[in-house]
Amino acid sequence: MDEYEVCPGCGESLMGGLIPGEHIEHYVPWEVSKAGQTEEWLKTNPWPRWKKKVGIEVRGVYDGILIWKHEDCGHMWPRFSKTDWERLHDKAVAIIREWDRQDYGV
Ligand SMILES: [Zn+2]
Repeated sequence: MDEYEVCPGCGESLMGGLIPGEHIEHYVPWEVSKAGQTEEWLKTNPWPRWKKKVGIEVRGVYDGILIWKHEDCGHMWPRFSKTDWERLHDKAVAIIREWDRQDYGV
């Protein structure tokens, strides 16, 4: 969850600042907080940082984040790699291509 990440479009780091303590529960996996193991989890996981990317959900395609976007440069890329989930990866690539086409009016 907290691995170092760069934007595949511009190569800039996507790592933001540390998440304030009062918001930490949103970043702890649901099963962990439900089991009351947040404290222990935080000991073995790097302190979470927010990332400079936004998740885009495409209704009717996938119930959850399908595409990431780096707001600074506008680059979009599929959430799932081809090996993770080929069908959704290909779908995301097609959607991004379509959006790019519309943006540039070609
Ligand atoms: Zn970028």
